[in-house]
Amino acid sequence: MATDTTQSQEHITCDLCVKPVQQFCNSCQVGLCEDCINKHVKSLKSMKHDIVPFTKRTVQLVFPQCTPHSHQRCEVYCQQCDVPVCIKCLTGQHQGHDKVDMADIIATKREKIKRETEEIVAIISKNTEQDKGNENKIS
Ligand SMILES: [Zn+2]
Ligand SMILES: [Zn+2]
Ligand SMILES: [Zn+2]
Ligand SMILES: [Zn+2]
Repeated sequence: MATDTTQSQEHITCDLCVKPVQQFCNSCQVGLCEDCINKHVKSLKSMKHDIVPFTKRTVQLVFPQCTPHSHQRCEVYCQQCDVPVCIKCLTGQHQGHDKVDMADIIATKREKIKRETEEIVAIISKNTEQDKGNENKIS
């Protein structure tokens, strides 16, 4: 039995639990660990899931749901309150606030995610090398 001792190799955790993320569902835009893939697919049976290794994930434009208006997608980001808001919020409590397009926010995020993914790949390959090195080292 192979015991996995690669702790803290990633700082990104599964969206459903606290384990390190392994796979990514492109359809739902969620990161999943080995255990949660089945859970995720079972809980959303009616949907198609495009599960890929986390390092190969595709980030898509998925607008978050509005908290007070659960049927609305947030298409705008309120810079003043630092929250995503929907059309209804715009004419309500966020009237007159500074806003940016959600698409711009997501584009920025996507850049960050791309960099993070590259970092993870580098960390994983570095860890693999280190493991080998430690095995050979006898003090
Ligand atoms: Zn999990
Ligand atoms: Zn999914
Ligand atoms: Zn709203
Ligand atoms: Zn606001």
